[in-house]
Parts: sequence; structure tokens; C-alpha cells
Amino acid sequence: MNKIIAANWKMNKNSKEAAETIKELSAFLNNSLPPKREVIIFPSFISLEASTHALSSSVLQFGAQDVYPAKDGAFTGEISPSMILDAGAAWVLTGHSERRHIIKEENTLVGQKTSFALASGLNVIACVGETLEEREAGKLYDVLTTQLNQTLAKLPTPLSPERLVIAYEPVWAIGTGKTAQTEDIIEAHAIIRELLKDIIGTSVSQTRILYGGSVKPENAREILELDNVEGLLVGGASLKAESFAKIIQA
Ligand code: PEP
Repeated sequence: MNKIIAANWKMNKNSKEAAETIKELSAFLNNSLPPKREVIIFPSFISLEASTHALSSSVLQFGAQDVYPAKDGAFTGEISPSMILDAGAAWVLTGHSERRHIIKEENTLVGQKTSFALASGLNVIACVGETLEEREAGKLYDVLTTQLNQTLAKLPTPLSPERLVIAYEPVWAIGTGKTAQTEDIIEAHAIIRELLKDIIGTSVSQTRILYGGSVKPENAREILELDNVEGLLVGGASLKAESFAKIIQA
């Protein structure tokens, strides 16, 4: 399967800025991707539609940074899967560490979001990862086990393997400039691959696992070549079209 290079723009860029960055990115890429690459951009909800409409034809895919697990109804401030699809996006992030730790989203809700989004036709990148405290207390395996078990508790079946992607994002490496060491990435991705075998079984060899945490043009290639790394989720370094284009082409 293709490696995925995903851009999480977080709470950055209004509609105009988002559309401009997409046009610039497309120009840097000559509107074509290197072989075996897929690129997904996650703008804010409010600039999602401007992003998906920025170019008349494009090799880029789009997603939302969050979703609410209901079709419609009295959920003030929330956004449904069909609204995301209607904006022209096909993907959603669930369980990003900033939602888990700042917004205090629990594993159960992350699981509900993941299964409802998939059942509604969105593809999902579900994020997992440990805090520095958890790592130092030797809890990496336990944290990944709990997060994955609950995130993937009620997957719709059948589910084609390219529709669900896991992103390993150690919380201490996100937005801090501290990239995880290669051995840390290899260890965590191997644990995730094993856990996926137990949780989702046969199609697991095709489930892509992305690494995220202070990825930049200088380290992207080395990380992409590690075992069980099938792509990258990039925050800060995806905001500038030129640096994100370099990561895509790494
Ligand atoms: C992220 O937000 O998913 C992320 C990995 O951020 P950064 O690349 O800035 O560490």
C-alpha cells in the first residue's frame, strides 16, 4: 500500500490562507506525487471546504481534525461525519493527543468516534501515544494496549484495510522539536503491529501505521525507512508549503 504523508494544520490558517497554501503546495509538487505516496491535509473545520475547493483538480486528499459520533441532533458546536463528507473530505483524525490531553477526551469517546466515522463512510487516522510520565514509568505497552483496544473496540465489518490508519504520536515529541529516537519508533510500531493482530486480525499486515512528532524535512526520510512505518503525520512542518513538499518528496 502507499505511504501516507498527512498534514495536521491544527487551529491555524483561515480559509484564504488554507487555499493559498494548498495552491502553493500543488505548485511545489507540480500537482503530482512521488510513486507510492498519498497526501492528506487536515485543515480546521472552518477552512475545510475552501481547502477541498482550492484547486479544480488535485492529487491531494482532505480530512477533518475531529468528528462527533452522531448523525445529527442536539450537539452544540459539534460536526457530523456527513457534514465532513459534504465539505469534500474523506478522512478524519480521531484521538489526537491535543484532544485527549487539552480537551480531556477519553478512550471511550475516541472509540465511538472511530467506529461511527468508519460506519458513516469516512476513513480514519486514529492517534495513540504515551506521555513522558507514562514512558518513564515503563507504561508504554499498557498505554498503547488500552488506547488501541478501546479505539478499535467496535469496528464496522467488513472494513477494507486502507480505510483505517493508526498514528503513533508520543505526546512528548509533538510540537516540542524532540523527535523520538529511531529505536523508540521501531519499538512502539512493533508493539502496535502486534496489538493490531490481536484486535483486528487478518487484514492487519495492511493496516498502515504512521509516526508523528516533530517530523521535518531533515528527518522524514530516515523515519519513513524504519520497520512498520507506513507514513508520517506532520504538524508544525506542514504549515509551510515548501517544507511540507520536501517531506512528501523525502
Ligand atoms: C501533530 O500534531 O500531529 C504533530 C505531530 O505535530 P508536530 O509535527 O508539530 O510535532
